[in-house]
Amino acid sequence: MSIVNTVARLFNRKAKKAENDSKPQILQRKEHGISRRQLSENALKVLYRLNKEGYDAYLVGGCVRDSMLGAHPKDFDVATSATPEQVNQLFRNSRLIGRRFKLVHVLFGREVIEVATFRTSPKEEHNSQQAKTGDSGMILRDNVYGNINDDAMRRDFTINAMYYCVKDFTVHSYADGYQDAQDKLIRLMGDPETRYREDPVRMLRAIRFAAKLDFEIEHDTKAPIKMMAPLMEQIPAPRLFEEVLKLFLSGNALVTYRLLREYKLFGELFPLTEQCVADDEFAARFVEQTMINTDTRIQAGKSVTPYYFFAALLWPSLQRVQAEFLAQDIPPQPALHKAASRVIEQQLKRTSIPKRFTIPMKEIWDMQSRFQKKKGKKAAEVAESNRFRAAYDFILLREQCGENLKGLGNWWTNYQDTAEYKEVAANRKPEERHVKKRRPRRTNRGTPNDRQRSRRPE
Ligand code: ATP
Ligand code: MG
Repeated sequence: MSIVNTVARLFNRKAKKAENDSKPQILQRKEHGISRRQLSENALKVLYRLNKEGYDAYLVGGCVRDSMLGAHPKDFDVATSATPEQVNQLFRNSRLIGRRFKLVHVLFGREVIEVATFRTSPKEEHNSQQAKTGDSGMILRDNVYGNINDDAMRRDFTINAMYYCVKDFTVHSYADGYQDAQDKLIRLMGDPETRYREDPVRMLRAIRFAAKLDFEIEHDTKAPIKMMAPLMEQIPAPRLFEEVLKLFLSGNALVTYRLLREYKLFGELFPLTEQCVADDEFAARFVEQTMINTDTRIQAGKSVTPYYFFAALLWPSLQRVQAEFLAQDIPPQPALHKAASRVIEQQLKRTSIPKRFTIPMKEIWDMQSRFQKKKGKKAAEVAESNRFRAAYDFILLREQCGENLKGLGNWWTNYQDTAEYKEVAANRKPEERHVKKRRPRRTNRGTPNDRQRSRRPE
């Protein structure tokens, strides 16, 4: 057979697949198994209202996927034929969000339902106000509207391209998404390289879903990741910060971390830490243990804070840089402060870290040496700090990883049973975050604005 024929056949097969992918498989209630009781009442209200006004509206993405798998959805997203402006007019309790990826948040107390208009791929006639792609193929603006079939093609993974219809309780699954969910497969919609180029964060999302759902990444979806990992450089630091929180503070940190390293993505997020774990056994143990402890705390229902996590991840690099300054005869405390500034400055090039987190990070590091001073009133002074608990946990973590601190952790554990400590702890000023007024939150870890920032091409 001639080469021309082979190419033509391949092309036809591809075209046929694309055509099939854009036709949904319709699953009835008893096939997909999702009951309305699993779904957010507020999200259903949004669907009913949009349907009543004559618009198409579906639940889509993680909420359909997770409900189908018997898990608890983190949040509920709606896709509709109504434009953002039309949605905004329909719901008094809503606001328009975003410019590059416009959508609407409908607020019900602390719950936020995100409503997005069906998107389609931009054609040449669309102007740069509607759609824009960078030189590398990255999508910079994505506001061209289409129908549900078009919208499904723009989703990241097949398991995220399932739509729940409340009119007849069916699920519309595209590109074998339902089958992939049964087979536990993460598969990109469309051509993997193109889709990663459009939005490199999809590589992180593939890892996150694989870890969270205990799914395999399908062969073609995983093949280009290592090679394309450096594209992560193009992603704005604030978006990567949000992704880091989702990757590591959701209860699957250890598995996620190992996968990220395997796919050469971890170094894109934490280049200094990657250097340390690659050639230092203590650093490797320290970072793994941080992941284990984070997961354990979440499983036990305890809080996890970004500042503790970042303080731990940057600790091995901090020690390295501090050692360099010490070798220049700079005394320990100034050496630590200089190292802290340098390490944070380097990290900020990859992920932003808001000031409200860098300050307590530095305090935790600073307190590590203050914990050595226990004589007279010194212990009580240390214990007064708001950061005492975190800094104490940090001491235990260091010892857990094999650092010999001469029983320091034990000493401070016993100290917490003394009357002196109890008095100090009772008088400790409340943390700022306890007195701050609460804003409506979409999830337990991100405000609606945080989320919008983290979302797709921003
Ligand atoms: P979870 O909420 O559990 O993290 P999710 O799949 O709902 O998972 P979201 O970030 O809430 O993830 O996004 C909702 C849906 O929007 C996704 O399921 C997917 O269909 C689509 N989506 C999100 N981010 C992207 C992206 N970068 N590229 C393409 N589609 C995306
Ligand atoms: Mg979601």
